[in-house]
Amino acid sequence: MERESSAAAAMLGMAGFVVLAVSEHDGELEQAIETTADLVGCPTCAAVAQLHDRRPVWVRDLPSGGRPVTLVWIKRVWRCPHPLCPKRTWTETSPVIAPRASLTGRARAEICRRVGEDGAPVAAVARDFGIGWRTAMTAVREHGTHRVDDPDRLADIDAVGVDETAFQAAAATRSTSFVTGVVDLTRGRGPARLLDVVPGRSASALLSWMNAQDPAWRSGIATAALDPYRGYASALRSALPDAVRVLDAFHVVRLGFAAVDDVRRRIQQEQTGHRGRTGDPLYGIRRLLRRRYDHHSEKSWARLLAGLDAGDTTDEQLARTWVAAQELRLIYHAADRDRAQQGLYRWLAYCADADVPELTRLARTIDSWHAEFLAYFDTGRVSNGPTEAVNLLIKKIKRVGHGFRNFDNYRLRLLLHCGVDWNTIRATPIRGRLPRSAA
Ligand SMILES: [Zn+2]
Repeated sequence: MERESSAAAAMLGMAGFVVLAVSEHDGELEQAIETTADLVGCPTCAAVAQLHDRRPVWVRDLPSGGRPVTLVWIKRVWRCPHPLCPKRTWTETSPVIAPRASLTGRARAEICRRVGEDGAPVAAVARDFGIGWRTAMTAVREHGTHRVDDPDRLADIDAVGVDETAFQAAAATRSTSFVTGVVDLTRGRGPARLLDVVPGRSASALLSWMNAQDPAWRSGIATAALDPYRGYASALRSALPDAVRVLDAFHVVRLGFAAVDDVRRRIQQEQTGHRGRTGDPLYGIRRLLRRRYDHHSEKSWARLLAGLDAGDTTDEQLARTWVAAQELRLIYHAADRDRAQQGLYRWLAYCADADVPELTRLARTIDSWHAEFLAYFDTGRVSNGPTEAVNLLIKKIKRVGHGFRNFDNYRLRLLLHCGVDWNTIRATPIRGRLPRSAA
């Protein structure tokens, strides 16, 4: 290859192609390219082909220097010189630019990675590449679907978590619809990984997903963590009969603090006749009430007590609920199952004595799940903690997508973001490195 063209060819980085010309207009870069093939045999009779014509095709490629790039591939049309050969003429092809494609293969892959791994909005990626939203989403779908469908994603899993998350925010015209997420909780697998999302928050939705999996896969699941929802429990009982069901610690702890919130709101309403607002003593400590007791500073502790003194006028119902929420969390620190069980019974007795309606309801819920609650201590303390991390990612993707109308697009983007190993090669740092070209 000539020296002049090699710099441009290196910039292009597409094996088998050289750059003929580069021009910039309206903030876009246009690169005319051709293949390096100049000696080509007829695919039918193997005679050396003759150049018949040149025909340009336009495709979008990776942006360069912040500018969208169009490649103008000056395609060669070859002719077979053999008069009796039926082949006559044909147009050259390349594996990196599919026939009639509007994007190079690497551009499609990068669009999919930006939307998937980076969680970037489709519209922003489309703008960078100089294409429409629909073209970009098609690239995500074409390139991403096989990654998501790869059966290896579900291999070697022995613990799962199921959890519900809101699919769409409630709006005037539609109610919130839920999706059920299935998350990999296998130990030592690194960051949280979403296995799938299923529309709906019901036993049947989860059951049909579970039953669609290989029986060998299902019998390999030893542990299943769930939030306290009967539908999930019955689906797991019938689809994964060998798995130990564990009530998720995060959800339980959150239920405790939700009871504190409920009691605070009720007392506020009773006292003031309106919802909490600035200046109300209990409203002022609403965040402090949700804090772990051992995460208080001297100052925040004093503020919490002062707020309770001023606002908790109902025979200390709020203070008792607060104690119960803290105690519930502490049961999870028990050294073993026996001590956890003792702690749970003490806690239930405390709630019965406290005689706060919200606390009575919470205690009844926990009691009805006590087997799943204590199973935490038999299963190496499996928890939906990773599920919570995935939920945060799900919220991010939803924000980026401004809500989703189409469940399949939503599922694809979620799984590409939190369910797929991208193995992206990271560049080495450039500091302290000698220029290789100057060596
Ligand atoms: Zn021929």
